[in-house]
Amino acid sequence: MRALSASELLSVWEMGSRQLPLQRALTMLAVAYPEISSESLAGLTIGQRDARLLALREMTFGAEITGVTDCPECRETIELSFNSSDLRPLNETEPPNELAVKSNGSEVRFRLPTGTDLLAVSNAEQLLERCLLNGGDKLTENVRAAVAEQMSSVDPMADIQLALNCPNCEHKWASPFDIVAFFWREISAAARRLLREVHTLASAYGWTESEILSLSPMRRRVYLEMASG
Ligand SMILES: [Zn+2]
Repeated sequence: MRALSASELLSVWEMGSRQLPLQRALTMLAVAYPEISSESLAGLTIGQRDARLLALREMTFGAEITGVTDCPECRETIELSFNSSDLRPLNETEPPNELAVKSNGSEVRFRLPTGTDLLAVSNAEQLLERCLLNGGDKLTENVRAAVAEQMSSVDPMADIQLALNCPNCEHKWASPFDIVAFFWREISAAARRLLREVHTLASAYGWTESEILSLSPMRRRVYLEMASG
């Protein structure tokens, strides 16, 4: 995998603007992995998908992740700064194809949800049903909870929780980190910035959009300085 180029970033932004977040995630990966079919990308588990998006984001925008959130207790705005590597599990292993939990002496077998599954369902209950490999019997609340718990423990990147604490009131809480939404906001901001740069350089030098986008970021920056100075 490598960083998204300036023109790839604009393509992802243009395609993704018309899509829902689930499809956007696959659009971002399709541009980064042109050699992998869209079916295979949609067949990744959510954790596998998000690990790849995090890696692509790191190559494109760097390892540092910053943002702001509000303390749920005292409403203080808190600045967050962490590294991609803080979000990765210590040992990344391929998740198993099949999992099981015991229920009243019988075994409930299931698999991990994928992007295809998420696109096909509208709620968590349907998602769980879709991932069952045996049964048909109605599952109890306890069994459902056990299945969900095992799903997130073997595919930890599917549900990243940030451990936060407030410097103002010392409240501690966990907040989910949504890599798809986070990366998308950065792509949108970068795309608008790039288009402004194209506009400035095209106006100053008469170059075409593709000529400007194919400049290295360093050359583009120096020309921008000259065009505006
Ligand atoms: Zn607080």
